[in-house]
Amino acid sequence: MACASGCATCVCINEQMIGELSASQVQELEADLLQLKKDLKDLLATTESGAKPVTLRDNVGRLSRMDEMHNQSILLANRNLTKNRLKQVIPAIARIGNDTYGCCSVCGELISFARLKAYPEAAMCLECKSESE
Ligand SMILES: [Zn+2]
Repeated sequence: MACASGCATCVCINEQMIGELSASQVQELEADLLQLKKDLKDLLATTESGAKPVTLRDNVGRLSRMDEMHNQSILLANRNLTKNRLKQVIPAIARIGNDTYGCCSVCGELISFARLKAYPEAAMCLECKSESE
């Protein structure tokens, strides 16, 4: 039976296992994803104030102002990475809900548990991912 995302090769739905992942592995990855989502949200919340435009203050010198702007550009880049990762995590949690989790969204092959353990939000197998980059 092909899964809802149109995977031709994987047997995701209503089997005792989701692809090659056992139910307990899926549970473990779901817990990882929920923790990751929380961590990323916390990170965005704690860096929120630093993301506001640098206010020009009279009592700081030109150099420290440049420092401040430089630090902010790093912080903003990190925030973008965090936001992008969060955008992957949320649909991954949804895929667990509809039993398509663990299938590559491109070729439909199963994504290995080892890869999912490292990147629980992964939507593509290693091959497709490296081809898309
Ligand atoms: Zn693939």
